[in-house]
Order: sequence, then C-alpha cells, then structure tokens
Amino acid sequence: DAKKVGRNQIRFFDTSMQQKAEHRAELEFGLRRALKNQEFILYYQPQYHAEGEMTGVEALIRWQPPEQPLVSPGDFIPVAETTGLILPLGQWILRTACQQLVSWSEHPDTAHLTIAVNISAAQMHHNSFVDDVLSILQETGAPANRLELELTESLLIDNIEQTIEKMLLLKAEGIRFSLDDFGTGFSSLSLLISLPLDTLKVDQAFVRDMHRDARDLAVVRTIIDLGRSLALNVIAEGVENLDQRDALQRFGCRSFQGFLYARPMPIDAFASHKNTIPPYQGL
Ligand code: C2E
Ligand code: MG
Ligand code: MG
Ligand code: MG
Repeated sequence: DAKKVGRNQIRFFDTSMQQKAEHRAELEFGLRRALKNQEFILYYQPQYHAEGEMTGVEALIRWQPPEQPLVSPGDFIPVAETTGLILPLGQWILRTACQQLVSWSEHPDTAHLTIAVNISAAQMHHNSFVDDVLSILQETGAPANRLELELTESLLIDNIEQTIEKMLLLKAEGIRFSLDDFGTGFSSLSLLISLPLDTLKVDQAFVRDMHRDARDLAVVRTIIDLGRSLALNVIAEGVENLDQRDALQRFGCRSFQGFLYARPMPIDAFASHKNTIPPYQGL
C-alpha cells in the first residue's frame, strides 16, 4: 500500500503536517500573550427550569485577540490542554466565575444563580486541583454551593479513584458536579453510579436529532429516565426549538439550556436579558 502513495502525495502530507505544527505553535504563542494581556472573556448562557425561571448559567470561554474576530473554545482549548496553558487559563476561568458569583450574591434578583464551569482533564488530574479551587473560593469569598463543575466522560476514564476522591473533597465544601455531554462517551453504568454527581447533561447532539432519528429520541428518553432514577438533575443542552423543549419536558426533563432561550453572552448583555419563552402547556 505504501508503494501506491506517490512521492508528491507524501510531500503533500508532510507539508500539511508542517502547516499544522506551525499553526499550533502560532496558537500557543498567541495564547501565552492572551493570558498576559487578559484577552479572554467569559460568556454566560442561561439555564432555565421547567417553570420558566433562570436557575443559573454555564460559563463559556471566548478569546478576543486584538483587532481579530472572536475565537471559539473549540479552536483553542485543545491547544491549551496539550501545552499545559489550560492550568493558568483554568484558574483564570474559575476566579472570574467566582467573582461573578460574589457580585450576583449582592443583589436579591441574582443571589440564587449558579455558575457551571467546564473543567478539562489536565486540570482535574493535576495534583493541586482541589487546593487551587479551594484557594480561589477563599480568595474571592464565593459561595461554594453555587459553583458547579462540569466534567466529561472522557476525563473519567483515567485515575477514576483519584478523581472520585477529589470530587468528594470538593463536594464536602458544597461544590456540585455535573457530567457534560452525557451519552457521547463510553462510560459504563457502573462508573456512572460510582460518581458523586448532582447533574446529568444530555448531549446536544441527541437533542438536535431527536425529531429526525428515532434512535436519538430513544437515547434522550433513556438518559432522562436514568438520571431521574438515580435522583440526579437532568439538563438538556442544545435546545433550539419549542418542539424539542416540549418533548423533553414530556419525557420528564426539568432543566433546559440552548439557543431557544438564549445564546451565550457577555455579562453586560446578560444584565438586560429576559426569558420570553412560554412554559410548556402540555398535560
Ligand atoms: P459544552 O460544555 O458542551 O458547551 C456547550 C456548547 O454548546 C457551547 O459551545 C454553547 O455555545 C453551545 N450551545 C449552547 N446552546 C446551543 C444550541 O442551542 N445549539 C447549538 N448548536 N449549540 C449550542 P462553545 O461555547 O463553543 O463551547 C464548546 C466547548 O468548548 C464546550 O462544550 C466545552 O467543552 C468547551 N469549553 C467552553 N468553555 C470552556 C471553559 O471555560 N473551559 C474548558 N475547559 N472548556 C470550555
Ligand atoms: Mg459544558
Ligand atoms: Mg455539553
Ligand atoms: Mg460539547
């Protein structure tokens, strides 16, 4: 088979590998500068309860390089992870979210809101993670019981005993945990029941296709039932229309996040945001 690949093709392959490496190095350089110059911004996407009230937000990072378009996390988080930059970046994200919680706790309208923060594998598996989170809580004075940490199934594949230990230490302080993108990994049900979780997040891919593919619908129903059977909160992400929201609610889901309600937004836009989506009217 190797013989079938001509020289030009091999060279083309090498070039694209080199281009990728160069692009990565450029990104890494840009990210280091961004950390120093504070070019990161947290966007917040509201989460709504079935009755229509906002219960909290998910913090979603954006990168605003000077004079350039906003960069999505999907385009830089992987590089931040492989270069170790996710550690200082992750601390900045947690500190910023905690400062926001403190500012919200000063007003009765916002004092109940929670913030969910995405945690990368490299952060969770770092040996100072628990201490880092606790220091940030102490330093900011943020209420631990309004901070939720989002983990993914893939993060749970390695060092599971250590991860559970860390989760228990943080839970003892009041921090909550959710399992993000649930259903896309290959974690077993025995793993699921061994984790001290509070919330399951139904992955948006299933929600997106639930009315196009009966199998996605079946998965959505199963995840909702599973979460409820285990006494977990279940939140559906990627809810884009009322058909999806209403079906999810019929299946027993009580919390929703998605473009139907609001896109992720910077904090100043958040202050004037109002929910205009009518609650489910079904039986
Ligand atoms: P995620 O944690 O699963 O976040 C949900 C993603 O879905 C967000 O994309 C959000 O903007 C998008 N989304 C929300 N509602 C809808 C909807 O109705 N329709 C569609 N099509 N999309 C919707 P975003 O902000 O680009 O983030 C992508 C991923 O990057 C996140 O997935 C998360 O894994 C990662 N990420 C984002 N912020 C952070 C962070 O602060 N730290 C870490 N470690 N990862 C982050
Ligand atoms: Mg998330
Ligand atoms: Mg998700
Ligand atoms: Mg995702």
